[in-house]
Amino acid sequence: MVLEIVNYGSPVLRQKGVRIESVTPEIKQLIADMLETMEANHGVGLAAQQIGVAKQLAVIDVRGATDRPSWLERDGKPAEVVKFMPLVLINPEVTPVGETVKGSEGCLSFPEIYAEISRPESVDVKALDAKGKPLAFRCGGLLARAVQHETDHLNGLLFIDRMDKKTKAELQPELDDLQAATKKALGKK
Ligand code: ZN
Repeated sequence: MVLEIVNYGSPVLRQKGVRIESVTPEIKQLIADMLETMEANHGVGLAAQQIGVAKQLAVIDVRGATDRPSWLERDGKPAEVVKFMPLVLINPEVTPVGETVKGSEGCLSFPEIYAEISRPESVDVKALDAKGKPLAFRCGGLLARAVQHETDHLNGLLFIDRMDKKTKAELQPELDDLQAATKKALGKK
């Protein structure tokens, strides 16, 4: 089922996700719905907070972004990114390993808003997979950016928190409008 994505201004986007202790049938359904929702919205990633659930769960799929390369290593050996997609991350822990690089980012909770964000080029990731099994890998490029963006969501952080002051100041009128529209819509529910 395609779920409704909440926009900036929804309090749930600022909530830290609760850790998932076991992959219950409810969590499996949530994963399936989040994958469907990400695909329907042509997203590169989606965090549970974005569909209104504050849990440590995110999905990622970089296959649609053919112009922005990603790389992946498992057990120190190069692996095929495409075969690793879509990626489900439960309780992810991310450690930066690369130099900081700038790259364009958007977010399904901030329609039409894009900005250059500085983040480490590559990261080590430890998480549980969709079956609750431990998963470890190193990645870089767009995949590393997506992993960091989604892990931020799981901790109640948003890409506007990573913007430099000038960029955020330029976008502030749009951000204020979006936040006001979201709060107005929430008030009517
Ligand atoms: Zn986002």
